[in-house]
Amino acid sequence: MASNLKILLHSRPAGAPTAGNFQLEFAPVPVPAPGQLLLRTLYLSLDPYMRGRMSDAPSYAAPVALGEVMGGGTIARVEASLHPGFGEGDLVLAYGGWQSYALSDGAGLTKLDPALDPPSLALGILGMPGFTAYMGLLEIGQPKAGETVVVAAASGAVGSVVGQIAKLKGCRVVGIAGGPRKCGYVVEELGFDACIDHRAGDLPQRLARACPDGIDVYFENVGGAVFDAVLPLLNVQARVPVCGLIAHYNDTTLPPGPDRLGLLPRAILTRRIKMQGFIIFDDFGPRFGEFQQAMGDWVRAGKIKYREDLVEGLENAPAAFIGLLQGANFGKLVVRVSH
Ligand code: NDP
Repeated sequence: MASNLKILLHSRPAGAPTAGNFQLEFAPVPVPAPGQLLLRTLYLSLDPYMRGRMSDAPSYAAPVALGEVMGGGTIARVEASLHPGFGEGDLVLAYGGWQSYALSDGAGLTKLDPALDPPSLALGILGMPGFTAYMGLLEIGQPKAGETVVVAAASGAVGSVVGQIAKLKGCRVVGIAGGPRKCGYVVEELGFDACIDHRAGDLPQRLARACPDGIDVYFENVGGAVFDAVLPLLNVQARVPVCGLIAHYNDTTLPPGPDRLGLLPRAILTRRIKMQGFIIFDDFGPRFGEFQQAMGDWVRAGKIKYREDLVEGLENAPAAFIGLLQGANFGKLVVRVSH
């Protein structure tokens, strides 16, 4: 008999999450009440923001409560429906979380084209990460032909798309990624002009050599040592969309001194740099349709490529998520929960 595997937040991590922060629980498959539908999860998206939800530090979104199912975007099949807007068999984008079944009242669900192959693309290139790259780069980064664009986590869900859009806009694009395999992919498959391995040492000098004309747009996914290497290279009137700071998500203390915080406003002032943070759906939600149209066209035309890192089985989600924060994923990390 089917049961509902749920992955709960058992304890809050101190530093990097561990397997002990998660708890697996088997529960009966829930039964929909009138107005509800039962969703069977096909794919679960694993994303860096989930680290923030495991913590109760103040943030832009509420934390997951202890003992609660971990939240997350999902692709699901409607298994049973007592809701007039949905029928059995519909394919939907949902926020069903880390569990194999979920109940929904229909709020926040998006019906997907049954022809979408594979449907998990709605969690990656055609979904939240692709949208993040598109809006962050084009609206905040404002890249112009001939400019140098640098993006970190360059083989990942967001960074890979940032660099490819910048190439379509006629920019010189330099990626930063962890390890020779990822760097090779970024240059050879995605068409970036160069990619620097941030794990290989001597990052500031190698990045400077790859950016002889300085940096006009730096798409910030990482922070930490990567940002330290980027800051001296930012040109007058550079733009810095601040999308993520994954190097800091497990921090428990401030980095050791000396305190260099004053260098940043000084650089912003003297070089007239624009830095702007954004939270994709809060800041750009109404433009999702425009993105879907543009990205759909690019993907169909083969102008933008994507790579998924598919993990089989919901029980493997905690280990895959822990790996994501250490760079173990190669492409958009997705868990196949059921077929
Ligand atoms: P990725 O698929 O790029 O996976 C995360 C990658 O981050 C890892 O594979 C690793 O790549 C890199 N990384 C991890 N730790 C470090 C480190 N210490 N230094 C340098 N790189 C590191 O994830 P996403 O594309 O989904 O997310 C990228 C960023 O965008 C994240 O910071 C995320 O929080 C942010 N984001 C923000 C959104 C917003 O609305 N503002 C929305 C979506 C994402 P490598 O091996 O190459 O180092």
